[in-house]
Amino acid sequence: NHEVGKNFIEKIIDEDLAEGTYTKVVTRFPPEPNGYLHIGHAKSILLNYGLAEEYNGEFHLRFDDTNAKKENTEFVDSIVKDVEWLGAKWVGGVRYASNYFDQMYEAAKTLIQKGLAYVDDLNADEIRAYRGTLTEPGKNSPYRERSIEENLDLFERMKNDEFKDGEKVLRAKIDMSSPNINMRDPIIYRVAHVTHHNTGDKWCIYPMYDFAHPIEDAIEGITHSICTLEFEDHRQLYNWVVENLDYPHPPKQIEFAKLYLTNVVTGKRYIKKLVEDGVVDGWDDPRLVTIAALRRRGFTPESLKNFMKSTSVTKANSSVDYAQLEYFIRDDLKPKAPRLQAVLDKPIKVIIDNYPEGQVEYLDAPNNVENEELGSRKLPFERELYIEREDFMIEPPKKYYRLFPGNEVRLMNAYFVKCVSYETDDQGDVTVVHVTYDPETKSGSGFNGRKVKGTIHWVAAHHCVKAPVRLYEQLVDEEKGVYNEDGTMNINPNSLTVVDGYIEENIKNYKPGDAFQFVRKGYFNIDTKDSTQDHPVFNRICAMKSSFKL
Ligand code: ATP
Ligand code: MG
Ligand code: MG
Repeated sequence: NHEVGKNFIEKIIDEDLAEGTYTKVVTRFPPEPNGYLHIGHAKSILLNYGLAEEYNGEFHLRFDDTNAKKENTEFVDSIVKDVEWLGAKWVGGVRYASNYFDQMYEAAKTLIQKGLAYVDDLNADEIRAYRGTLTEPGKNSPYRERSIEENLDLFERMKNDEFKDGEKVLRAKIDMSSPNINMRDPIIYRVAHVTHHNTGDKWCIYPMYDFAHPIEDAIEGITHSICTLEFEDHRQLYNWVVENLDYPHPPKQIEFAKLYLTNVVTGKRYIKKLVEDGVVDGWDDPRLVTIAALRRRGFTPESLKNFMKSTSVTKANSSVDYAQLEYFIRDDLKPKAPRLQAVLDKPIKVIIDNYPEGQVEYLDAPNNVENEELGSRKLPFERELYIEREDFMIEPPKKYYRLFPGNEVRLMNAYFVKCVSYETDDQGDVTVVHVTYDPETKSGSGFNGRKVKGTIHWVAAHHCVKAPVRLYEQLVDEEKGVYNEDGTMNINPNSLTVVDGYIEENIKNYKPGDAFQFVRKGYFNIDTKDSTQDHPVFNRICAMKSSFKL
């Protein structure tokens, strides 16, 4: 009974439910609190949460915090916030793998008692040398045949702080000649004198990921333990652990391909380096694709959910174009976001010669021509305006319908104006354009005496807000790819440009975090970190158009 359109994980779940392997689906998202979450994690969160929802099951949020060295509570807090923001609802509080350390310790003892684990005195280099290679089997450690009693005693003494880091490890006793190197007596516990963010100094031994993870899943009754492809070779060990510990309904590990975006730095390790090297201004720098950065940049949970739905869940690695992500934020904001007029960078002043000096008129302007529900606003209009530099040309090319000497255009939401003259500075750059307006042609008046081909936007020179607007390009060079041959990152020197924006004064009614379309210019928001009530700073979320089509 395979429904068309289901992904391979849904098909596995359908089969498991049909066969009665499980009666209820329980999934989890198990982040390591060693950095901020990124867009790839969002895929995992929404996949796991989506499956729990679809099958009326449970979704858990569990910190996989068994590697004390790299973890801290700043990361824990940011991860909880991000998962919440994405709308994934977990059942039963935030969980920590470290809360299961007692059970893991007992599980290790169970393996020792079964003759399936031993304490090894070889050091890290020796263990590596004994492990063998893909083509060569490994060799048994000389300590492999210790008695159960001796192993129990030594393991307890490891716990009781009698050994230094690296002096002894506990290893699973499996098969040193297994074709799967992960099965060649993997280390399951090691001595590490580090303070843990949750358990403090209670432990000086910590379980290894491959041993801890299946136990965490089994304790919580996880049914489908979804992870990414790099764990495929670890599945045999995962199964070995749950089988030998006799869990009644052992969880099942399923691997899928990571989400990669073209020309974007995903991967905690690389993002961390950009933060540490000061290439970006923190984990939430809007040029990054951490969830915190995407939120700050103006992406919405809906846009990320729709984007994820458009990417497939498969076992084949592939990259999704960044433009596809932008498509979904544009799609989400298009009907929702108010549209304002803003002139970005080096505007040209327009003087309406026949408009009374000192007069200000408030024109009715719809907030979003595609969504009447957003209502309208009053747009101040006066004798002096600003327009985009690119909307005026002294000698226009063919098919240029904007302002040029003698041409008439519509000022958006206002009147027709006709260019009568212009002024330039010593360099020949245009400083002022003189126009006349025709009061008959007011927007909304129904005037149809004549037509113009171009409509341009503008702001009133004395009724606008001047503010920095940040324009972003990818952090890494679009053409050359993310990495150089020597492994260094190929940073785009133009990833951030700050221009002076002139925004209609209605912007004062909005607050940090609000997003809008600046007509003809793209989607922008007010930065939540660097803005104050009187001094907004804007981020460009995305441009108006993209190359991506659904
Ligand atoms: P990174 O590779 O960026 O360092 P990680 O896998 O080390 O990430 P974890 O905190 O261990 O980070 O990941 C939590 C979960 O998110 C894991 O199940 C992991 O497989 C999944 N995940 C991480 N990156 C991606 C990605 N790019 N696409 C889909 N899932 C991902
Ligand atoms: Mg990991
Ligand atoms: Mg990692």
